[in-house]
Amino acid sequence: MKNLIALSIVFSVLFLACSPKVSKYLITDITDLEIRKQTSKNYHCNKNENHIPDSLSRMKYIRVNIHFMDDSTGTKNFSMEKGKNYMKQLLVNANKRLGDNKKMNLPLGNNTAVLPINYRYKISSANGDPKDDGFYKHLDNDLFYFLNKGKNRNNYNRDVVKKYNIGGDSIINIFVLPHHPDSVKSKSYKPHKTGIALGTSLKVAGLVEDPDKPWEFATLLNHEIGHILGLSHSWVRNDRCEDTPQHPNCWDKNSAPPCDGTHSNNMMDYNNSQMAVTPDQLAIINKGFNKLLSKNRELLKVDWCERESDIDIIIQDSVHWKGYRDVQRDIRVLPGAVFEVSCRIGMAAGTKIIVEPGGFLKLNSAYLHNSCGIRWEGIEVLTKGKVSGTVEAYGNFRMENVLDDVVSTLERPVFGSSKTN
Ligand SMILES: [Zn+2]
Repeated sequence: MKNLIALSIVFSVLFLACSPKVSKYLITDITDLEIRKQTSKNYHCNKNENHIPDSLSRMKYIRVNIHFMDDSTGTKNFSMEKGKNYMKQLLVNANKRLGDNKKMNLPLGNNTAVLPINYRYKISSANGDPKDDGFYKHLDNDLFYFLNKGKNRNNYNRDVVKKYNIGGDSIINIFVLPHHPDSVKSKSYKPHKTGIALGTSLKVAGLVEDPDKPWEFATLLNHEIGHILGLSHSWVRNDRCEDTPQHPNCWDKNSAPPCDGTHSNNMMDYNNSQMAVTPDQLAIINKGFNKLLSKNRELLKVDWCERESDIDIIIQDSVHWKGYRDVQRDIRVLPGAVFEVSCRIGMAAGTKIIVEPGGFLKLNSAYLHNSCGIRWEGIEVLTKGKVSGTVEAYGNFRMENVLDDVVSTLERPVFGSSKTN
């Protein structure tokens, strides 16, 4: 037994002595690479299908704030206290529904995947002031009401949005308006629950007229915010989604012909469910979330600047990232793996891409950077003995924010306080 132990120690020492050392080479800049000619055009970033969320897609939080419009008496809309309570419940319910994506009803017999919806709403202040909780009340005798009929109709009018929006480029401003009190008195005017998306704002009405059931408004809110995030009505022929068939937009299965028996349950149709969002719809929304300077991305709470975990993203076999991404962990390309990148990757502060000996990283007009202007650590290429990692860059490859000389504060989080709802 003693001999055996001695022998194994000898073997270990010999093995360690013979085992080649791992050396590292760091790529920090495009000048560290020979840039080769891209032989075919790279259209990957623009294609919606390359932005369908996957297991690496993180939850995104969309900033919203709430304005209660009232006349000078302050009696035509919710009090601030009741309004806050109502809207908090409504947002909790809307977020809950986003967390419960349903299988599509249409087309009949479909195999459309049911993916998790990766966004939620968060009530947010505009400037981090502790007194600013994202709820506001404005008294304005001219602009306080909503009217969708008659000569004074103002449903599409943006005056209230222009006058009172707060942080409208980076926050969805939700205006809660009462129907006009004179119209409500008329028997022919129905104070429906209704909403209209205008740019990054939303006018909603009919809430104070039905003050006890905030959840009844949740799917309408999700529908209208769907418009803000770039979705069209899904019953139309060209909504840029192959998995949402054209159909007669029936409310429910009891509707009159041609509706008998079938109806959509998609969030972007008018129906009694509005609980299904398809992969192609999520792709449109996520492309906006991940594309620099896009409207959708501006609305998000910026939480991708810093590292989130020490667990690496492992690349094995053959992997091709064709869409925009923000990554908050190291990426490790294993021996024998081929990792192809054809779009933008935002690397969180302090993260790096490690190419192990025998791993292959191919960068096709890719853009590697930290979108918040904080340093990341670059590409670490490992060599062991005669085997190295390989990095090849093609076309319009760009790499920024590894060295100190590139500083931009484009997307640094500036919003100090926000509340989860
Ligand atoms: Zn609509």
